[in-house]
Amino acid sequence: MLMGIRLQAHPNSGQKLILSQWMGCARFIWNAKCEEDRYLSTFAKKYMPIGVYAPIDQKFSQYKDGVLSPWLSDCPSQILRNSVSNWFQTYKAFLKGECGKPKRKPKTDAGSIHLTNELFRFETCDDGVTRLFVGTKTNNIGYLSLKNHGPYQPPKSIHIKRRLGQYFVSFCYEDPVDDTSLATGHDHLEYLRGASLEFLNQHTVGIDRGIVRPVQAGAEVFDLTPEQKRSKTRTARYLKRLQRRLARQKKGSNRRRKIKGKIGRAHLKMANIRRDFCHKASHAIVSNPNHKVIILEDLKTKNMTKAPKPKQTESGHWEKNGASAKAGLNRQILDQGWHQFETFLKYKSFRAGKALFKVSPHMTSQECAACSHTHPGNRQSQASFVCGACGHTDHADRNAAEVIKKRAIVLILDSGSELSSRGVLLDSGRGATVKTRRASARRARGSEASKKRGEAAPAA
Ligand SMILES: [Zn+2]
Repeated sequence: MLMGIRLQAHPNSGQKLILSQWMGCARFIWNAKCEEDRYLSTFAKKYMPIGVYAPIDQKFSQYKDGVLSPWLSDCPSQILRNSVSNWFQTYKAFLKGECGKPKRKPKTDAGSIHLTNELFRFETCDDGVTRLFVGTKTNNIGYLSLKNHGPYQPPKSIHIKRRLGQYFVSFCYEDPVDDTSLATGHDHLEYLRGASLEFLNQHTVGIDRGIVRPVQAGAEVFDLTPEQKRSKTRTARYLKRLQRRLARQKKGSNRRRKIKGKIGRAHLKMANIRRDFCHKASHAIVSNPNHKVIILEDLKTKNMTKAPKPKQTESGHWEKNGASAKAGLNRQILDQGWHQFETFLKYKSFRAGKALFKVSPHMTSQECAACSHTHPGNRQSQASFVCGACGHTDHADRNAAEVIKKRAIVLILDSGSELSSRGVLLDSGRGATVKTRRASARRARGSEASKKRGEAAPAA
């Protein structure tokens, strides 16, 4: 199974300087190819017959000049070649319609180089620590200090990246777990159809994602640690202060650039806290031996965090639409990292051979887990749930997790249900008939209308 990993590197000041130069050279070559393509395609458009296009190639030796760009010779030519090669691959993907045209890269503090296996080697030194040797025999930066936080296989190629003053080594490697032997969602569903209700009740866990309680898995609550919460509020306050300072500063000034860096690092800190939580919560859920079937709500975070539509009265006067309140809610939703949590849970459960399904999130917060009575009045406050029909009382999030679990069990045992490409359990039996009936009605109406139009046309 192909796995990706990112390790933080700690280059010394000399290594930092050389890496920065190499990143600059790689960017220079990339930009030169972009410019070349722009020039040649303009020329072809103007002066060549239709159907003749500008040639695209991977040549870059014309940019290595002893007078104009002597510094390019200080960089290992393999790095330049990899940069051109990546540009060429991107261009080919663009021609296939898979992505945009390769664009010029601006000069920022973010940079990267792509190293193929002749430019690096992982070596276990005498003290037992694995270090990364970067460069060729004659042109190298020596051993790069790495933070090895997990086991990995030596890769074929690596990227060294710089973001906000931090250096990272990232790569993909082939993991010993064979992913062709692992069960897919359909296999799991097929298998679980034959399971008993008791088994499913015992081994299924419903997960409700919320704002006050980020993740509620069955009766278990996953939340940030108090230290992380404090750190987040502190950073949020700090960010606000920085934003105010940024607003007062002159554009293009050095101080503004510095503040921008600080803002970036503060955001990075928040993102790190979020990612840490998502990894830990998803790991705990998947490694629990009682959880064999994991159920999520099919939340569409992108749709949920849209800005509200503008409101206008008939006279054309614009009314308040609660945009700023919604913006606050959106920030809170996005701050939970719901989608990141889902992504982590997906790959971890797949590796562990556990089933992960999603169900429709419709009314999960208003439905009673005991008697399925659905009413907005059931939700008395943010936290408390009291059923108006049977008097069932619970924490609202725990009730929702229970509802999600029940919903999934019903769908798993129902032979008519299907698994969509998004991994959502669908009650296809009933859904399909409703759709056909509606569709056929529309078709009937449409044909009648066209018949009428057909009759009316000759008369007119
Ligand atoms: Zn009830």
